[in-house]
Amino acid sequence: MPRSEPIKAVRGVRDILPADLPVWRAAKSGAEDMARKFGYEEIITPILEKAELIERVGEDTDAVAKELYRFDDRGGRNLALRPEATAGVVRAYFEGLLNQGPQPSRLYLFGPMFRYDRPQKGRYRQFFQFNAEAIGSGAAGLDAEVVELAHSWLAAVGLGDLRLELNSIGDAKCRPAYLERLKAYYRPLKSQLHGDCQLRLEKNPLRLLDCKVPQCQPFKAGAPRVTDFLCDECSAHWAAVRRLLDAASIEYQHNPYLVRGLDYYTRTVFEFYPGGATGQQDALASGGRYDGLAEELGWPATPGVGFAGGLDRVTELMAAKGEDGAASPPADVLVLPDGDLAVEAAEVARICRAARAVAVDYEPKSLRAKMRSANKLGARWVVLLSVEDAARRVAQLRDMTSGDQTELAWDELPIHFV
Ligand code: AMP
Repeated sequence: MPRSEPIKAVRGVRDILPADLPVWRAAKSGAEDMARKFGYEEIITPILEKAELIERVGEDTDAVAKELYRFDDRGGRNLALRPEATAGVVRAYFEGLLNQGPQPSRLYLFGPMFRYDRPQKGRYRQFFQFNAEAIGSGAAGLDAEVVELAHSWLAAVGLGDLRLELNSIGDAKCRPAYLERLKAYYRPLKSQLHGDCQLRLEKNPLRLLDCKVPQCQPFKAGAPRVTDFLCDECSAHWAAVRRLLDAASIEYQHNPYLVRGLDYYTRTVFEFYPGGATGQQDALASGGRYDGLAEELGWPATPGVGFAGGLDRVTELMAAKGEDGAASPPADVLVLPDGDLAVEAAEVARICRAARAVAVDYEPKSLRAKMRSANKLGARWVVLLSVEDAARRVAQLRDMTSGDQTELAWDELPIHFV
């Protein structure tokens, strides 16, 4: 490559720049506040996991079959960049002995996820999620709780206009019989389905229901609905979750085609969309119960429920709605040395930091030019330092709002930043 070619970012991966961060901070602090209000504790799990952890639970999903960042490290270990966090959180729950503490374990996590998908607006190869997981209980109260947590978070960051879709996909007891009915319904239609769906018909029939390809749509309406085939326990759980959401005044639509194409998902599944959005591509958050996951990973069978919210999409929508968060200048105080005064300016800054965020302009520029930068930066105060002032350990404090200027001893500066 010629030396002159500047090195750019990896495709599908982006920088979140300082100007974007107020909205990110608002989205994250809203999430964190809400998680804590619901009694959830933070956990950080690695971005790197054994490829097997991810593959074991996701074979049939696009996120794993087609989109997994998978590689051998220098020691020949087969690793993956996590495409989602739940499998890692469940692994950590056992390895960190959280399973031996009070149950359920209520956990939340922020972090980047990686999927080798075709990049477009709202879809990146590295993206950020806020996850909340309640592990160690099968209570319907927790299904409703994680839905309410997601709902409260989105409302708190100004995205209260939401569409919540909800479904129950049964469990290992009642789902097999339903899947037989679903296959029986679709078999005569096989030749009219698109290629992937023809394969799904025998391998993973539940995914016929979330196919987005137009040619497969007309057949959905006549398909049997999983909620009509729930066993007594799943039926009671489904009724309890809906009752709890009603009591919480959380509106939802029953979408009988909302599914997860993985065996370990059980009972509740849900997705939040911006109100008015029609596509399935722009979910803000999605989740469900995964009572079969722990066992699939080789740990003792343990129920769990949770959701993942997409911070990229949430912040994009917040910005579009003007919910930008409070932008503030990087420094409140700017120290402007006039001359060769780096040591003295650094000391003045150190003193002022007792009270405020402080930066120093070390550039070899005229004081006039430095004042122009200070204005651009939006600093509230400027501390002007000349060679003569420095010799007496005084400086000129200028209030940039009023234009007032006062001479002060260095040590007195902090008490004037109010
Ligand atoms: P999922 O794990 O696929 O259910 O995704 C959970 C949430 O993460 C979605 O509702 C999106 O908001 C977000 N998300 C998933 N994939 C991407 C992506 N490639 N880029 C940005 N956000 C994503």
